[in-house]
Amino acid sequence: KLPPIDGDFYDLSLKLSDEQRELQLEVRQFMEKEVKPIANKYWNKAEFPFEIIPKMAELNICGMAYKGIGSRDESFLMEGIVAMELARIDVSISTFFGVHSGLAMGSIYLCGSDSQKEEWLPKMQKMELIGAFGLTEPDVGSAVAGGLGTTCRQEGDEWVLNGQKKWIGNATFADVTVIWARDEETNRVKGFLVRKGNPGFKAEKMEDKMALRTVQNALIMLTDCRIPESDRLQKCDSFKDTAKVLKMTRAAVAWQAVGCSRGAYESALKYTKKREQFGRPIAAFQLIQNHLVEMVANLTAMQTLCFRLSEMQDQGIMTDEHASLAKVFCSMRTRDVVSRAREVMGGNGILLEYDVARFVADAEAIYSYEGTKEINSLIVGRAITGYSAFVS
Ligand code: FAD
Repeated sequence: KLPPIDGDFYDLSLKLSDEQRELQLEVRQFMEKEVKPIANKYWNKAEFPFEIIPKMAELNICGMAYKGIGSRDESFLMEGIVAMELARIDVSISTFFGVHSGLAMGSIYLCGSDSQKEEWLPKMQKMELIGAFGLTEPDVGSAVAGGLGTTCRQEGDEWVLNGQKKWIGNATFADVTVIWARDEETNRVKGFLVRKGNPGFKAEKMEDKMALRTVQNALIMLTDCRIPESDRLQKCDSFKDTAKVLKMTRAAVAWQAVGCSRGAYESALKYTKKREQFGRPIAAFQLIQNHLVEMVANLTAMQTLCFRLSEMQDQGIMTDEHASLAKVFCSMRTRDVVSRAREVMGGNGILLEYDVARFVADAEAIYSYEGTKEINSLIVGRAITGYSAFVS
């Protein structure tokens, strides 16, 4: 009988320092103890487990890669590994965290003035305040770079925002939502910190999602929403600055795909060893082993690629196309892994209580958000051919 092998086949975790390894295991323990028992219930109800936020805050993992804000590790590598550990149990919780710690805090970290950083980042780092990130609109998804319909107009010391945003995670309850809008006068994109309770800001929960049901995504209406100049992100001058935030967070989305695959693979492996048919565990059948090996091969390739990507990010040499290639590859491979996991579980593969059905659904969201598979492919295609295929 061979010893069980979990989802890190080439022992990449051995490359971590003792402190980093300890952090990884602490996050894993938190997810297994606090989130795993409730994940399916909240997913099914499409509600968010607010009670986990203070416990998650104790891990001190927000804004991991931002220098000098008090996180316990300051590397993109650990940011990625944390994203993987969260997604390994629940991709919704990983997404909630990614929107808050990556997109919202990252916007303030990269585009905020010193006083904006001082006001928001320490409290967001402790999860006393939660953030959201509003870029996508009902009519503009992939083409946000040149096509934002939400506008901003300066009136004295204030800005007036009008428009709609769609899919905005955490926005039904966030204390601050970063809103990206096109300046009516200059046509350039600006970023704004919209505080909870602003009378011009309305966030309606999007119902009947079939993936990431625990994440509270909102349709936002901005109606003559007035924002003081002091809440405009002072270091954002154009969409290029928004893109810097997306580039920084995209690697963590690739790691989320690894986590989703790993969760599905580990559940499937356990199941196949326990489930008996024809007098033997189904894990003993060649065709089942083939599925398991394909899963572990994909998973190992994804992890190795993400590990190197994060090392490059930490060295300051990661480009857009490096991050996009990882997002493309990992979101494609994840679809393959979760569908094999579902397959080896037979009928139970579509029951929520066995977890894999949730991973199958959630893999579809990873496939589309933070740049669809096609858009990220075009970023890589442009880099390797020299031709931009975004427009004909
Ligand atoms: P579209 O842009 O309409 O694309 C439709 C299809 O056309 C896709 O297959 C796309 O790849 C393809 N396509 C488009 N252009 C091209 C082209 N030039 N060449 C080839 N194919 C093309 N946004 C936020 O701002 N904040 C959030 O918190 C947030 N959270 C999200 C959570 C979830 C669960 C989801 C599903 C989305 C979220 N999004 C969020 C939005 C997400 O980023 C968009 O869904 C994504 O950018 C794609 O936009 P779209 O859905 O409008 O698709």
